[in-house]
Amino acid sequence: MSVMDSQKKFTPRYSFEFFPPRTPEAVGKLQMTTERLSKYRPDFFSVTYGAGGSTRTRTFETVRDITEKTGIEAAPHISCIGQSLEEIREVLEIYKSAGIKRIVALRGDMPSGHAAYGPLRHANELVEFIRNETGDHFHIEVAAYPEFHPQAPNPKKDLENFKRKIDAGANSAITQYFYNSEAYYRFVDDCEKLGIDVPIVPGVMPIINCSQLVRFSDACGAEIPRWILKRLQEFGDDRVSIRAFGIDVTTQLCADLLGHGAPGIHMYTMNQSEASEAIWDNLILKKRKEVQKKVSVG
Ligand code: FAD
Repeated sequence: MSVMDSQKKFTPRYSFEFFPPRTPEAVGKLQMTTERLSKYRPDFFSVTYGAGGSTRTRTFETVRDITEKTGIEAAPHISCIGQSLEEIREVLEIYKSAGIKRIVALRGDMPSGHAAYGPLRHANELVEFIRNETGDHFHIEVAAYPEFHPQAPNPKKDLENFKRKIDAGANSAITQYFYNSEAYYRFVDDCEKLGIDVPIVPGVMPIINCSQLVRFSDACGAEIPRWILKRLQEFGDDRVSIRAFGIDVTTQLCADLLGHGAPGIHMYTMNQSEASEAIWDNLILKKRKEVQKKVSVG
């Protein structure tokens, strides 16, 4: 069995991630974004959750608005860091009563200066808690790290910790973004060796802004390959070139991943539709060309 064969049996699914908007203008902009991305008929949208429950209401309201306006499933994230069991139970109850069936369960990161962890210290404990409280009601997504979580003592431990979340009852995983597809293929291969048998969907971050990408990548431990960084730095303030290059690189990455049998793509949109739309249009065009080529050869 070659790398990725274990993932090919899963039906690919596509999703776009947003964060809950803060201002009325941002709410309006997100509505336009979700409307535009709806035309790709994704399997679901997802909405992040601020650590310690800081966006608890906004996450839920955003999920509700998206589902009402687009008719497409929206999955709220939930994190356990800095929250009591009672608070987490309440959030689960709100999600469940609203008919939500899919959630993304995370540990979360506390903003610097906040040290209080709460009773659940890791995402596997959160998954276990959700299963104990709500049985099989939710489809639970968890996070995976092909380039390894920055706090993990070593790759082996990080893989074992990832397995704990699956063993606790998670149904599928979404990865941190990466630009080295080889890291993902090896990660998936290692997971298979550990007997992990769930879809591990690659998370993809469109490249829109160099300094923002560097900042995020420093924080979450994603590596920006040297050749990508050098080219982005060379473009300086030339946003048009950065955009074109970013779309090209990310389209190639998605095509490579799907070509190797990745079970879908989860796109970190940063609440903007333009880059995601361009990437999807490119992928659709590529697919059409492949089909046309097959038809003309056949
Ligand atoms: P965990 O799985 O708990 O892992 C965290 C660290 O602890 C790792 O180093 C792991 O090796 C180690 N570990 C795990 N379990 C154990 C254990 N039982 N014993 C000892 N060590 C252990 N953050 C938010 O605040 N809100 C969001 O909405 C959000 N959405 C995200 C969506 C995706 C798809 C991804 C990939 C990340 C998201 N994050 C979000 C970021 C995430 O919260 C951080 O990456 C966080 O640092 C780790 O979360 P986790 O769920 O992976 O934690």
